[in-house]
Amino acid sequence: MTSRGRMLLISGPSGCGKSTICDRLREDPRVVYSVSATTRPPRPGEVDGKDYHFLSKEEFRRRIEAGDFIEHAEVHGNMYGTLRAPMETAIREGRIYLVEIDVQGALQLKALDVPGIYVFIAPPSLEELRHRLEGRGTESPEQLERRLAKAADELREKDKYDYVIVNDVLEEAVAKIRELAGLGKEPA
Ligand code: 5GP
Repeated sequence: MTSRGRMLLISGPSGCGKSTICDRLREDPRVVYSVSATTRPPRPGEVDGKDYHFLSKEEFRRRIEAGDFIEHAEVHGNMYGTLRAPMETAIREGRIYLVEIDVQGALQLKALDVPGIYVFIAPPSLEELRHRLEGRGTESPEQLERRLAKAADELREKDKYDYVIVNDVLEEAVAKIRELAGLGKEPA
């Protein structure tokens, strides 16, 4: 168990490989993953309560009013929010609380002075990002163009983070982030 609980925030344009990096970081028992709430419908294979808390628009609104979110944002036409209570518990217990979030949300947390390690994951290039998004095949051509235009804007915000990690070689990116979070090398 790490002696100092803190938030490890991973952010960056969609398709930059955040989820894969976070999946790897989550394998460490000292890491607690922040399960966001969203109004977007589940994709095939996604599990409620594990990937997201899938909420109706009404329920999401109710929870905003109840003050349950540290931040919430509309991303690509759906609502997403970070829940307050699980973060407070995990940090109190001395764990690394892993928050995977879009750039808007990350900058909201920064503006609120939420303490933590803010990491921006950058794609090797916008061209590479286009290939990755096309390969994923989850977006329509219009959505893809929208995400790429947004990614170009988001890249301009990277200097507001504590660290920028270029996700070229996955293993190297994971190792660097583990080091930043004080997790050390991955067990063999
Ligand atoms: P996706 O629908 O592809 O899972 O996520 C779309 C975007 O929403 C991603 O960039 C993801 O990081 C972001 N996102 C996920 N959870 C949250 C959250 O709790 N708050 C905010 N602001 N963005 C989030």
